[in-house]
Amino acid sequence: MDVVVAGIGIAGAFTLNALSSSLDVVGIDKREKLGYPVECGEIIPTKKEMKILLPDLDDYSLFDIPKRYESNRTKEMHFILPNGKTFEVDFDMHVIRRDEMIQDIARKSGHKVLLKTRIVDYDKNSSELRTTNGVFSPEVLVASDGANSKIAKKVGVWRYELSPAKQYLMRNVECDEDVIYMYIGKKIAAGGYAWIIPKGNGLANVGIGFRKEYAEKGDNIHKALDRFVKDYPYSKEFLKNAEVFGKIGAVVPIDLPLEKTVYDNVLFVGDSASMIISHVGAGIPISMVAGNIAGRIINEYFDGSVELEKYDLFWRERMLDVMKNAYFIKKLWDGISKNDEKLVKYFKLVNNKDMGLILRSKIPFKLKVAKYFIPVLNLIF
Ligand SMILES: Cc1cc2nc3c(=O)[nH]c(=O)nc-3n(C[C@H](O)[C@H](O)[C@H](O)COP(=O)(O)OP(=O)(O)OC[C@H]3O[C@@H](n4cnc5c(N)ncnc54)[C@H](O)[C@@H]3O)c2cc1C
Repeated sequence: MDVVVAGIGIAGAFTLNALSSSLDVVGIDKREKLGYPVECGEIIPTKKEMKILLPDLDDYSLFDIPKRYESNRTKEMHFILPNGKTFEVDFDMHVIRRDEMIQDIARKSGHKVLLKTRIVDYDKNSSELRTTNGVFSPEVLVASDGANSKIAKKVGVWRYELSPAKQYLMRNVECDEDVIYMYIGKKIAAGGYAWIIPKGNGLANVGIGFRKEYAEKGDNIHKALDRFVKDYPYSKEFLKNAEVFGKIGAVVPIDLPLEKTVYDNVLFVGDSASMIISHVGAGIPISMVAGNIAGRIINEYFDGSVELEKYDLFWRERMLDVMKNAYFIKKLWDGISKNDEKLVKYFKLVNNKDMGLILRSKIPFKLKVAKYFIPVLNLIF
Protein backbone atom coordinates (compact mmCIF):
# COMPACT_ATOMS: atom_id res chain seq x y z
CA MET A 1 0.00 0.00 0.00
CA ASP A 2 1.38 3.41 -0.99
CA VAL A 3 -1.00 5.75 0.84
CA VAL A 4 -3.69 5.49 3.49
CA VAL A 5 -5.91 8.55 3.91
CA ALA A 6 -7.24 8.17 7.45
CA GLY A 7 -10.49 10.12 7.80
CA ILE A 8 -12.55 11.23 4.82
CA GLY A 9 -14.07 14.57 5.72
CA ILE A 10 -13.25 17.68 3.71
CA ALA A 11 -9.47 17.34 4.09
CA GLY A 12 -9.43 13.61 3.33
CA ALA A 13 -11.74 13.88 0.31
CA PHE A 14 -9.64 16.64 -1.27
CA THR A 15 -6.44 14.67 -0.57
CA LEU A 16 -7.90 11.56 -2.22
CA ASN A 17 -9.00 13.65 -5.18
CA ALA A 18 -5.48 15.00 -5.76
CA LEU A 19 -3.71 11.63 -5.39
CA SER A 20 -2.58 10.04 -8.64
CA SER A 21 -4.53 7.03 -9.92
CA SER A 22 -1.20 5.26 -10.41
CA LEU A 23 -0.77 4.99 -6.64
CA ASP A 24 -2.16 2.23 -4.47
CA VAL A 25 -4.41 4.25 -2.15
CA VAL A 26 -7.10 3.49 0.38
CA GLY A 27 -9.26 5.94 2.29
CA ILE A 28 -10.81 4.88 5.58
CA ASP A 29 -13.55 6.37 7.71
CA LYS A 30 -15.52 5.26 10.75
CA ARG A 31 -18.79 6.58 9.33
CA GLU A 32 -21.39 4.52 7.47
CA LYS A 33 -21.99 7.36 5.04
CA LEU A 34 -19.26 9.92 4.35
CA GLY A 35 -19.92 13.40 5.75
CA TYR A 36 -23.10 12.27 7.49
CA PRO A 37 -24.36 13.43 9.94
CA VAL A 38 -23.28 16.94 8.97
CA GLU A 39 -21.32 18.48 11.84
CA CYS A 40 -20.87 21.89 10.26
CA GLY A 41 -22.57 25.19 9.39
CA GLU A 42 -21.69 24.41 5.73
CA ILE A 43 -20.63 27.86 4.54
CA ILE A 44 -17.78 28.55 2.12
CA PRO A 45 -16.94 31.97 0.69
CA THR A 46 -17.38 32.20 -3.08
CA LYS A 47 -14.35 32.18 -5.39
CA LYS A 48 -14.41 35.99 -5.56
CA GLU A 49 -14.24 36.15 -1.75
CA MET A 50 -11.61 33.42 -1.57
CA LYS A 51 -9.26 35.57 -3.65
CA ILE A 52 -9.48 38.18 -0.88
CA LEU A 53 -9.52 35.76 2.03
CA LEU A 54 -6.57 33.59 0.90
CA PRO A 55 -4.68 35.94 -1.45
CA ASP A 56 -1.56 33.78 -1.81
CA LEU A 57 -2.99 30.72 -3.55
CA ASP A 58 -1.67 29.81 -7.03
CA ASP A 59 -5.01 28.59 -8.26
CA TYR A 60 -8.62 29.19 -7.19
CA SER A 61 -10.32 26.55 -9.31
CA LEU A 62 -11.06 24.45 -6.19
CA PHE A 63 -13.58 27.17 -5.36
CA ASP A 64 -15.60 26.73 -8.54
CA ILE A 65 -18.24 25.05 -6.41
CA PRO A 66 -20.66 23.14 -8.65
CA LYS A 67 -24.31 24.21 -8.34
CA ARG A 68 -25.34 20.72 -7.29
CA TYR A 69 -23.37 21.06 -4.02
CA GLU A 70 -25.08 24.32 -3.17
CA SER A 71 -28.28 24.52 -1.12
CA ASN A 72 -28.27 28.32 -0.89
CA ARG A 73 -26.19 31.37 -1.86
CA THR A 74 -26.04 34.28 0.58
CA LYS A 75 -24.99 37.88 -0.05
CA GLU A 76 -24.54 39.44 3.39
CA MET A 77 -23.31 38.69 6.87
CA HIS A 78 -25.04 40.38 9.79
CA PHE A 79 -23.00 40.56 12.94
CA ILE A 80 -25.21 41.28 15.95
CA LEU A 81 -24.01 42.64 19.30
CA PRO A 82 -25.67 41.90 22.68
CA ASN A 83 -27.54 45.25 22.52
CA GLY A 84 -28.93 44.49 19.05
CA LYS A 85 -26.58 46.79 17.13
CA THR A 86 -25.95 45.12 13.80
CA PHE A 87 -23.06 45.37 11.37
CA GLU A 88 -24.22 44.51 7.86
CA VAL A 89 -21.40 43.35 5.60
CA ASP A 90 -21.57 42.38 1.93
CA PHE A 91 -20.05 38.90 1.75
CA ASP A 92 -20.90 36.21 -0.81
CA MET A 93 -21.14 32.67 0.48
CA HIS A 94 -22.15 29.24 -0.71
CA VAL A 95 -24.17 27.22 1.74
CA ILE A 96 -23.17 23.75 0.63
CA ARG A 97 -24.54 20.25 0.95
CA ARG A 98 -21.35 19.27 2.71
CA ASP A 99 -22.09 15.54 3.01
CA GLU A 100 -22.93 15.21 -0.68
CA MET A 101 -19.84 17.18 -1.66
CA ILE A 102 -17.56 14.92 0.39
CA GLN A 103 -19.19 11.76 -0.99
CA ASP A 104 -18.96 12.99 -4.57
CA ILE A 105 -15.34 14.20 -4.37
CA ALA A 106 -14.24 10.94 -2.72
CA ARG A 107 -16.08 8.82 -5.30
CA LYS A 108 -14.72 10.82 -8.22
CA SER A 109 -11.15 10.34 -6.97
CA GLY A 110 -11.50 6.71 -8.07
CA HIS A 111 -9.65 5.51 -4.95
CA LYS A 112 -10.99 2.80 -2.71
CA VAL A 113 -12.76 3.92 0.47
CA LEU A 114 -13.47 1.61 3.40
CA LEU A 115 -16.44 2.76 5.47
CA LYS A 116 -17.24 1.71 9.04
CA THR A 117 -13.50 1.40 9.59
CA ARG A 118 -12.39 2.97 12.84
CA ILE A 119 -8.80 3.90 13.68
CA VAL A 120 -8.03 2.08 16.91
CA ASP A 121 -4.34 2.76 17.34
CA TYR A 122 -1.30 4.12 15.61
CA ASP A 123 2.21 3.02 16.53
CA LYS A 124 4.66 5.69 15.49
CA ASN A 125 7.66 3.35 15.88
CA SER A 126 6.39 0.63 13.57
CA SER A 127 4.21 3.05 11.50
CA GLU A 128 1.31 0.60 11.86
CA LEU A 129 -2.25 1.88 11.77
CA ARG A 130 -4.60 -0.50 13.56
CA THR A 131 -8.24 -0.29 12.54
CA THR A 132 -11.40 -2.30 13.06
CA ASN A 133 -10.85 -3.50 9.49
CA GLY A 134 -7.25 -4.67 9.74
CA VAL A 135 -3.74 -3.29 10.15
CA PHE A 136 -2.21 -0.94 7.55
CA SER A 137 1.47 -0.11 7.05
CA PRO A 138 1.39 2.36 4.18
CA GLU A 139 4.47 4.14 2.88
CA VAL A 140 2.65 7.44 3.52
CA LEU A 141 -0.12 8.04 6.04
CA VAL A 142 -2.41 11.08 5.74
CA ALA A 143 -3.91 11.94 9.13
CA SER A 144 -7.14 13.69 8.18
CA ASP A 145 -9.15 12.34 11.08
CA GLY A 146 -10.43 15.68 12.33
CA ALA A 147 -10.22 17.73 15.50
CA ASN A 148 -10.21 14.70 17.82
CA SER A 149 -7.46 13.07 15.75
CA LYS A 150 -6.46 9.72 17.19
CA ILE A 151 -3.28 9.85 15.12
CA ALA A 152 -2.34 13.31 16.48
CA LYS A 153 -2.82 11.92 19.99
CA LYS A 154 -0.62 8.92 19.25
CA VAL A 155 2.10 11.02 17.62
CA GLY A 156 1.92 13.31 20.67
CA VAL A 157 0.94 16.57 18.92
CA TRP A 158 -2.71 16.85 20.01
CA ARG A 159 -2.43 19.97 22.15
CA TYR A 160 -4.46 22.63 20.34
CA GLU A 161 -7.37 24.50 21.90
CA LEU A 162 -10.81 23.24 20.91
CA SER A 163 -14.20 24.88 21.26
CA PRO A 164 -17.35 22.82 21.74
CA ALA A 165 -20.13 23.57 19.27
CA LYS A 166 -23.74 22.45 19.04
CA GLN A 167 -26.09 22.85 16.13
CA TYR A 168 -29.74 22.24 15.31
CA LEU A 169 -31.08 21.68 11.85
CA MET A 170 -34.35 23.63 11.86
CA ARG A 171 -37.29 24.04 9.50
CA ASN A 172 -39.78 26.93 9.17
CA VAL A 173 -37.05 29.48 9.87
CA GLU A 174 -38.30 32.91 8.79
CA CYS A 175 -35.12 34.94 8.25
CA ASP A 176 -33.82 36.66 5.14
CA GLU A 177 -32.29 33.77 3.18
CA ASP A 178 -29.70 36.08 1.61
CA VAL A 179 -28.16 36.71 5.01
CA ILE A 180 -25.96 34.76 7.41
CA TYR A 181 -26.53 35.91 10.99
CA MET A 182 -23.73 35.84 13.59
CA TYR A 183 -24.49 36.82 17.20
CA ILE A 184 -21.98 37.45 19.95
CA GLY A 185 -22.52 37.84 23.67
CA LYS A 186 -22.13 35.98 26.91
CA LYS A 187 -25.84 35.19 27.28
CA ILE A 188 -26.10 33.04 24.16
CA ALA A 189 -22.57 32.17 23.08
CA ALA A 190 -19.97 32.79 25.77
CA GLY A 191 -16.50 32.83 24.24
CA GLY A 192 -17.88 32.04 20.79
CA TYR A 193 -20.79 33.08 18.63
CA ALA A 194 -24.23 31.88 17.62
CA TRP A 195 -25.34 31.54 14.01
CA ILE A 196 -28.33 31.18 11.75
CA ILE A 197 -27.28 29.91 8.34
CA PRO A 198 -30.21 29.65 5.92
CA LYS A 199 -30.04 26.60 3.66
CA GLY A 200 -33.01 27.70 1.56
CA ASN A 201 -36.73 26.84 1.70
CA GLY A 202 -37.01 27.66 5.40
CA LEU A 203 -34.27 25.25 6.46
CA ALA A 204 -31.35 26.55 8.50
CA ASN A 205 -28.33 25.46 10.50
CA VAL A 206 -28.76 27.14 13.88
CA GLY A 207 -25.90 26.72 16.30
CA ILE A 208 -23.41 28.05 18.78
CA GLY A 209 -19.77 27.81 19.72
CA PHE A 210 -19.55 28.08 23.49
CA ARG A 211 -16.64 28.02 25.92
CA LYS A 212 -17.51 27.32 29.55
CA GLU A 213 -14.65 29.42 30.93
CA TYR A 214 -16.33 32.53 29.46
CA ALA A 215 -19.80 31.69 30.80
CA GLU A 216 -21.68 32.27 34.04
CA LYS A 217 -21.25 29.49 36.59
CA GLY A 218 -23.76 26.68 35.96
CA ASP A 219 -24.40 27.63 32.36
CA ASN A 220 -23.66 25.20 29.54
CA ILE A 221 -23.86 24.86 25.77
CA HIS A 222 -27.23 23.04 25.79
CA LYS A 223 -28.97 25.68 27.89
CA ALA A 224 -27.36 28.45 25.86
CA LEU A 225 -28.50 27.08 22.48
CA ASP A 226 -32.03 26.62 23.79
CA ARG A 227 -32.07 30.20 25.09
CA PHE A 228 -30.88 31.39 21.69
CA VAL A 229 -33.59 29.43 19.91
CA LYS A 230 -36.46 30.23 22.30
CA ASP A 231 -36.02 33.65 23.76
CA TYR A 232 -33.16 35.72 22.45
CA PRO A 233 -34.66 39.07 21.39
CA TYR A 234 -32.69 39.36 18.13
CA SER A 235 -33.31 35.82 16.84
CA LYS A 236 -36.81 35.21 18.25
CA GLU A 237 -38.61 36.72 15.25
CA PHE A 238 -36.82 34.34 12.85
CA LEU A 239 -37.25 31.23 14.97
CA LYS A 240 -40.70 31.63 16.54
CA ASN A 241 -42.33 29.03 14.26
CA ALA A 242 -39.23 26.93 13.69
CA GLU A 243 -38.79 23.34 14.80
CA VAL A 244 -35.72 21.24 15.41
CA PHE A 245 -35.36 18.08 13.36
CA GLY A 246 -31.66 17.34 13.67
CA LYS A 247 -29.05 17.84 16.39
CA ILE A 248 -25.29 17.51 16.41
CA GLY A 249 -22.49 18.30 18.81
CA ALA A 250 -18.86 18.58 17.78
CA VAL A 251 -15.64 20.45 18.45
CA VAL A 252 -13.72 22.92 16.34
CA PRO A 253 -10.05 23.87 16.74
CA ILE A 254 -9.58 27.55 17.59
CA ASP A 255 -5.82 27.64 17.78
CA LEU A 256 -2.80 28.24 15.60
CA PRO A 257 -1.93 25.29 13.36
CA LEU A 258 0.63 22.68 14.43
CA GLU A 259 4.18 23.97 14.20
CA LYS A 260 5.10 20.91 12.19
CA THR A 261 2.67 18.90 10.05
CA VAL A 262 4.97 16.17 8.70
CA TYR A 263 6.32 13.57 11.08
CA ASP A 264 8.34 10.90 9.24
CA ASN A 265 5.78 9.45 6.83
CA VAL A 266 2.69 11.04 8.44
CA LEU A 267 1.11 14.22 7.05
CA PHE A 268 -1.48 16.07 9.14
CA VAL A 269 -4.18 17.78 7.08
CA GLY A 270 -7.18 19.91 8.11
CA ASP A 271 -8.59 19.98 11.65
CA SER A 272 -6.15 17.28 12.80
CA ALA A 273 -3.44 19.93 12.30
CA SER A 274 -5.65 22.73 13.72
CA MET A 275 -5.69 24.38 10.30
CA ILE A 276 -8.42 26.92 10.91
CA ILE A 277 -9.48 30.53 10.59
CA SER A 278 -9.83 30.56 14.32
CA HIS A 279 -11.80 33.76 15.06
CA VAL A 280 -14.78 32.41 13.12
CA GLY A 281 -14.02 28.67 13.32
CA ALA A 282 -13.87 28.27 9.54
CA GLY A 283 -11.96 25.26 8.32
CA ILE A 284 -13.60 24.10 5.09
CA PRO A 285 -11.64 26.24 2.58
CA ILE A 286 -8.35 25.70 4.44
CA SER A 287 -8.93 21.93 4.52
CA MET A 288 -9.78 21.87 0.80
CA VAL A 289 -6.54 23.65 -0.09
CA ALA A 290 -4.39 21.68 2.37
CA GLY A 291 -5.82 18.37 1.13
CA ASN A 292 -5.14 19.33 -2.45
CA ILE A 293 -1.55 20.34 -1.63
CA ALA A 294 -0.98 17.15 0.39
CA GLY A 295 -2.17 14.96 -2.49
CA ARG A 296 -0.01 16.75 -5.05
CA ILE A 297 3.14 16.65 -2.90
CA ILE A 298 2.63 12.94 -2.18
CA ASN A 299 2.43 12.31 -5.96
CA GLU A 300 5.73 14.16 -6.41
CA TYR A 301 7.23 12.20 -3.53
CA PHE A 302 6.40 8.91 -5.27
CA ASP A 303 7.90 10.31 -8.50
CA GLY A 304 11.07 10.71 -6.48
CA SER A 305 11.27 14.46 -7.02
CA VAL A 306 10.57 15.86 -3.50
CA GLU A 307 10.61 15.07 0.21
CA LEU A 308 7.31 14.94 2.09
CA GLU A 309 8.42 17.96 4.15
CA LYS A 310 7.66 20.13 1.12
CA TYR A 311 3.99 19.86 2.12
CA ASP A 312 4.71 21.75 5.34
CA LEU A 313 6.49 24.54 3.50
CA PHE A 314 3.94 24.78 0.73
CA TRP A 315 0.74 25.20 2.74
CA ARG A 316 2.44 27.61 5.18
CA GLU A 317 3.58 29.90 2.35
CA ARG A 318 0.03 30.04 1.06
CA MET A 319 -2.12 30.13 4.20
CA LEU A 320 -0.23 30.65 7.45
CA ASP A 321 -0.39 34.48 7.47
CA VAL A 322 -4.16 34.38 7.21
CA MET A 323 -4.42 31.89 10.07
CA LYS A 324 -2.12 34.08 12.16
CA ASN A 325 -4.28 37.16 11.49
CA ALA A 326 -7.36 35.22 12.49
CA TYR A 327 -5.68 34.09 15.68
CA PHE A 328 -4.64 37.64 16.52
CA ILE A 329 -8.26 38.80 16.13
CA LYS A 330 -9.51 35.84 18.14
CA LYS A 331 -7.15 36.66 21.02
CA LEU A 332 -8.28 40.31 21.07
CA TRP A 333 -11.88 39.19 20.98
CA ASP A 334 -11.27 36.75 23.87
CA GLY A 335 -9.81 39.64 25.86
CA ILE A 336 -13.06 41.60 25.76
CA SER A 337 -15.57 38.74 25.84
CA LYS A 338 -16.20 38.26 29.55
CA ASN A 339 -18.53 41.22 29.97
CA ASP A 340 -21.28 42.13 27.48
CA GLU A 341 -21.46 45.81 28.49
CA LYS A 342 -17.75 46.26 27.88
CA LEU A 343 -18.00 44.28 24.65
CA VAL A 344 -20.63 46.70 23.34
CA LYS A 345 -18.43 49.68 24.27
CA TYR A 346 -15.41 48.22 22.52
CA PHE A 347 -17.43 47.62 19.37
CA LYS A 348 -18.27 51.37 19.29
CA LEU A 349 -14.71 51.76 18.04
CA VAL A 350 -15.43 49.47 15.07
CA ASN A 351 -17.36 50.44 11.93
CA ASN A 352 -18.91 48.43 9.10
CA LYS A 353 -15.78 48.68 6.97
CA ASP A 354 -13.63 47.35 9.84
CA MET A 355 -16.09 44.50 10.30
CA GLY A 356 -15.78 43.63 6.60
CA LEU A 357 -12.01 43.40 7.03
CA ILE A 358 -12.26 41.41 10.26
CA LEU A 359 -14.63 38.84 8.73
CA ARG A 360 -12.09 38.45 5.89
CA SER A 361 -9.24 37.88 8.39
CA LYS A 362 -7.63 41.24 7.72
CA ILE A 363 -6.58 43.36 10.68
CA PRO A 364 -7.73 46.99 10.56
CA PHE A 365 -5.03 49.37 11.78
CA LYS A 366 -7.00 50.26 14.91
CA LEU A 367 -7.03 46.58 15.89
CA LYS A 368 -3.28 46.33 15.40
CA VAL A 369 -2.79 49.01 18.02
CA ALA A 370 -5.76 47.97 20.17
CA LYS A 371 -3.78 45.49 22.21
CA TYR A 372 -1.73 48.39 23.62
CA PHE A 373 -4.85 50.41 24.46
CA ILE A 374 -7.05 47.68 25.91
CA PRO A 375 -5.61 48.04 29.45
CA VAL A 376 -6.34 51.81 29.31
CA LEU A 377 -9.78 51.32 27.76
CA ASN A 378 -10.55 48.73 30.44
CA LEU A 379 -10.09 51.47 33.05
CA ILE A 380 -12.25 53.97 31.10
CA PHE A 381 -15.03 51.46 30.32
C1 LIG B 1 -20.69 22.92 14.43
C2 LIG B 1 -19.60 23.32 13.46
C3 LIG B 1 -19.90 24.22 12.45
C4 LIG B 1 -18.90 24.58 11.53
N1 LIG B 1 -19.22 25.39 10.50
C5 LIG B 1 -18.30 25.70 9.56
C6 LIG B 1 -18.63 26.46 8.43
O1 LIG B 1 -19.79 26.83 8.23
N2 LIG B 1 -17.67 26.76 7.51
C7 LIG B 1 -16.37 26.35 7.71
O2 LIG B 1 -15.51 26.68 6.86
N3 LIG B 1 -16.02 25.58 8.75
C8 LIG B 1 -16.95 25.23 9.68
N4 LIG B 1 -16.61 24.41 10.71
C9 LIG B 1 -15.26 23.84 10.75
C10 LIG B 1 -15.15 22.75 9.66
O3 LIG B 1 -16.26 21.89 9.71
C11 LIG B 1 -13.87 21.94 9.81
O4 LIG B 1 -12.79 22.80 10.04
C12 LIG B 1 -13.59 21.14 8.56
O5 LIG B 1 -14.68 20.41 8.18
C13 LIG B 1 -12.40 20.22 8.81
O6 LIG B 1 -12.43 19.15 7.92
P1 LIG B 1 -11.57 17.84 8.22
O7 LIG B 1 -11.69 17.00 7.05
O8 LIG B 1 -10.22 18.21 8.72
O9 LIG B 1 -12.28 17.16 9.48
P2 LIG B 1 -13.71 16.40 9.50
O10 LIG B 1 -14.63 16.97 8.52
O11 LIG B 1 -14.08 16.35 10.94
O12 LIG B 1 -13.34 14.94 9.00
C14 LIG B 1 -12.67 14.00 9.78
C15 LIG B 1 -13.11 12.63 9.31
O13 LIG B 1 -12.36 11.66 10.03
C16 LIG B 1 -13.23 10.65 10.46
N5 LIG B 1 -12.68 10.08 11.71
C17 LIG B 1 -12.46 10.73 12.87
N6 LIG B 1 -11.97 9.90 13.79
C18 LIG B 1 -11.88 8.69 13.19
C19 LIG B 1 -11.45 7.40 13.63
N7 LIG B 1 -11.02 7.18 14.89
N8 LIG B 1 -11.48 6.37 12.76
C20 LIG B 1 -11.90 6.58 11.46
N9 LIG B 1 -12.35 7.76 11.00
C21 LIG B 1 -12.32 8.81 11.86
C22 LIG B 1 -14.57 11.32 10.68
O14 LIG B 1 -15.64 10.40 10.57
C23 LIG B 1 -14.58 12.36 9.57
O15 LIG B 1 -15.21 11.89 8.41
C24 LIG B 1 -17.59 24.05 11.66
C25 LIG B 1 -17.29 23.15 12.69
C26 LIG B 1 -18.28 22.78 13.59
C27 LIG B 1 -17.96 21.78 14.68
